[in-house]
Amino acid sequence: MPQSYPPLQAPERLLFGPGPSMVAPRVYQAMSQNVVGHLDPFFFEVADQVRSLLGYAFSTANEFNIAVSGTGSSGMEAAVANFTEPGNKFALLTNGFFGDRLGEMAARQGATVARLAKPWGEPFDPQEVRDFIRRESPNVVAFVQAETSTGMFNQGKPICEAAHDAGALVIADCVTSLGGMPVLVDGNGIDIAYSCTQKGLGCPPGLAPVTVSPRALDRLKSRKTPVQSWYLDLQLLDSFYRGHKYHHTASATLFYALREGLAIIAEEGIENRWDRHRRNHEAFVKGIEAMGLSMHVPNPADRLWTLNTPRVPVGIDDAKVRQYLLEKRNIEIAGGFGPLAGKVFRIGVMGYGSSAGNVDFILEALADALKQQGYRAASA
Ligand code: PLP
Repeated sequence: MPQSYPPLQAPERLLFGPGPSMVAPRVYQAMSQNVVGHLDPFFFEVADQVRSLLGYAFSTANEFNIAVSGTGSSGMEAAVANFTEPGNKFALLTNGFFGDRLGEMAARQGATVARLAKPWGEPFDPQEVRDFIRRESPNVVAFVQAETSTGMFNQGKPICEAAHDAGALVIADCVTSLGGMPVLVDGNGIDIAYSCTQKGLGCPPGLAPVTVSPRALDRLKSRKTPVQSWYLDLQLLDSFYRGHKYHHTASATLFYALREGLAIIAEEGIENRWDRHRRNHEAFVKGIEAMGLSMHVPNPADRLWTLNTPRVPVGIDDAKVRQYLLEKRNIEIAGGFGPLAGKVFRIGVMGYGSSAGNVDFILEALADALKQQGYRAASA
């Protein structure tokens, strides 16, 4: 007997986790437009707009801006695979989970990975960074600008200056900063930056924006060995997006989404957007402190504006808080993992979702969930 399958109906979750964040309605509308072929002139028109709008979002004059098919990790893999050759020295600055993942990818490319590691959520000391880079004399230096596992912002400028003095290129993971915080590719001197679509850009996951400086492009062109990943070979991708030569069947739908997400940013103005994120983050922190909770990252200047990491109060089971929020309030937030498992909440207020109303809403919901678990603020 034929079975009936009513049209799929996804729940309307309120996404306050580390990503995906809530998708802007205009992006959803763009995604319902007709699919065109990946060699259609209209597709290339959209890809061209994405290229120039990405330059604006990344704050760079780079001409090499590409949206790689795949999630943020494909951006990470593209950056590492294209700019690392077997036997290269890869200097990794890591103070969280995603920093460690960068090192894992570099090792798989046959690089020798030298690590400067800090406990999760502790900043790097610029002099220590400089000494480390000078001592290791690497080909590439990599760091995570916005470390989603801890809520920590790592300052790029001292890293880039030390790396360039040593003749190295710099890869920066901007997955949780793009569209919500000043990534400042040119201002910091980042050579290769990558990101995702599902956080500060207010789109669904599926593409990874990547930008490459002219200096890094020269290095890419003079590689001695072919890039080990055919799919993520940036020069092949460039011959597709700019040379219009078939490489793979890129998703027109995801390009529409990204074009729309970036157009919204250009219309808002990137500085206004950063300001909105900063204001809403500060209001969130104020509310958290009023509840008697503290932030995991002690120095306000080191905190992400996109993703907040309040500490779980002693005696409270964070999994139960998260379960209550999901089941009773339809809200997704995340917990910590690794050394921060059970110790922090990870609460994203970013992209389309970063608004004063949403801050009030998530603070009230969190207070409710904590109360259900028996938490009483010290001052209450
Ligand atoms: N880098 C950082 C800092 C991230 O936060 C994430 C995911 O959250 C990634 C890389 C990997 O991105 P994706 O899960 O989209 O592959």
